[in-house]
Amino acid sequence: MGAAPSTHPGRVVANYGRRVLVRDSSGDTHLCIPRGRRLGVVCGDWVQWEPAASGDFGTVLSVEARSSELTRPDHRGRPEVLAANVTLVAAVMAPEPMPDPFIIDRYLAAAALMGADAIVVVNKVDRIDDKWAGRLDDWASEFSGAGYDVLRTSARTAEGIDDLAACLAGHTGILAGQSGVGKSSLLNRLVPAIDAATASVSSATGEGRHTTTASVLHELPGGGEIIDSPGVRDYAPGVVEPREVAAGFVEFADHVPHCRFANCMHRDEPGCAVKAAVADGVIAERRYESYRRLVRLMERLAPKY
Ligand code: GDP
Ligand code: ZN
Repeated sequence: MGAAPSTHPGRVVANYGRRVLVRDSSGDTHLCIPRGRRLGVVCGDWVQWEPAASGDFGTVLSVEARSSELTRPDHRGRPEVLAANVTLVAAVMAPEPMPDPFIIDRYLAAAALMGADAIVVVNKVDRIDDKWAGRLDDWASEFSGAGYDVLRTSARTAEGIDDLAACLAGHTGILAGQSGVGKSSLLNRLVPAIDAATASVSSATGEGRHTTTASVLHELPGGGEIIDSPGVRDYAPGVVEPREVAAGFVEFADHVPHCRFANCMHRDEPGCAVKAAVADGVIAERRYESYRRLVRLMERLAPKY
């Protein structure tokens, strides 16, 4: 038997708990509930769904395979999927709150490990003073040396917003970074009608206007889309095996095959090509220190059996 004739493809453009808003191929949205408690459905998912029989909720029948999953630990420490099919992580930093490049390294590593591209956004360039200018420039050249595009933006003056929009075109993106770096302000620049869009999602899902826990997928005027929710903005890059961390530092990839030992952790092993590249100045020392710090963190967090 083939699929029932009432089955339609759709995209989940908002989720609030079990309720999801599915956009059909003509752009109309339908409030749906997943069939069965075990069917996890999140914003960004491509799904098969069927309309409500009696003017109530539609039903999500199945979820297509995901190209990536954005996760964070739930209150029991298990990974909870916040969004699906994200293809670009924009890691945002700013001269205030106090910038911490390790946080950016973590987001960049998480993006690589989930199979998404990443860029670095230095926001609030209208506020960069002598105190931070030199260091922000140094970090920017480390990130670009590692292979990342680095954009300078101001949500206040709109400088660089067109460049950011151009990077997001063709992607399903998220803005990630410390609270206060300007993610909501950038989003307001990128999605001009965002308040109206968010309000219509709130009323469609039956949640109050001020409910802020919904994840929403916004289409961008210049193409591409961006998924936003407080959880997505603050997501903590997931816990991985310490051995996997190196794959999160994209500039190590050319060197890792030349390490003497196939299982090299790039710490104190003899013949480590990654350490040699750091000594030669090919890999930035600070990025390498972030790698070691992230390995130590994962050793602490990884469940011990
Ligand atoms: P979020 O927590 O990352 O979403 O940050 P917000 O967007 O809420 O911004 C935090 C504060 O920084 C707010 O007071 C914004 O007005 C301010 N802000 C955001 N972007 C810029 C910017 O580019 N320049 C300046 N001067 N202030 C900004
Ligand atoms: Zn090595």
